[in-house]
Amino acid sequence: MAHVIEKAPTGRAKCRGCGGKIAALELRFGERLPNPFADGEMTHWFHLDCAAFKRPAPFLEALAATSERLLDAERLESEARRGVAHRRLPRIAGAERSPSGRAQCRSCREPIAKDDWRIALVFYEDGRFAPSGYVHVRCSRAYFETADILPRLQRFAPDLRDEHLKEIEQELGPSAPE
Ligand SMILES: [Zn+2]
Ligand SMILES: [Zn+2]
Repeated sequence: MAHVIEKAPTGRAKCRGCGGKIAALELRFGERLPNPFADGEMTHWFHLDCAAFKRPAPFLEALAATSERLLDAERLESEARRGVAHRRLPRIAGAERSPSGRAQCRSCREPIAKDDWRIALVFYEDGRFAPSGYVHVRCSRAYFETADILPRLQRFAPDLRDEHLKEIEQELGPSAPE
C-alpha cells in the first residue's frame, strides 16, 4: 500500500515524530512499512508537520497523491523538499541548554559546555528514531548546510520561550540564501 494522508478517525494514535497525540479528525500522515513480525505491512502515523520535517521523502509521495485539501500544503512541501536536499535536517529532534559538559559536538568535535545551546539529533533506521548525539546550535550551518532551522527547533522543543528563541537565532547567525 502507498503512504497516505487522511483524517484521523480517533484521537488515539501517537505521532512517531514528536510522541504527541494526533487529534481526532486532524489530517495525519501514514508511512507504510513492512511488518517485521508478520506478513504484510504496518503504518506509522505522524502529524503532518512532523512528517514533513522528519520523513520528507515518503511525505512528499503522499502529498503528491492525496485528494485531501491541506491548509498549508505549500509550506509543508517546501520544508520537506529542504529536508531531502539537506539530508541531515530530518535528524533535528529539538534544542536545549546542555545540562552537562559531557557531550561532544558531532560537527566540530569539541565538547559542548554546560548551558551551551545544543540541538538533539536522531538517526532513522528500520522504522525507528534512535538518539544520535548533539551539535552546537552555532555549528548548525556547518552541520546541516543551512541555518534556516528555527521552525524545526520549535516543533520538537515546544517549550522554548521567546527569549530562548532570540538567543538561538543569534547563534544561528543571519539567514543566507541557500
Ligand atoms: Zn508529531
Ligand atoms: Zn560544534
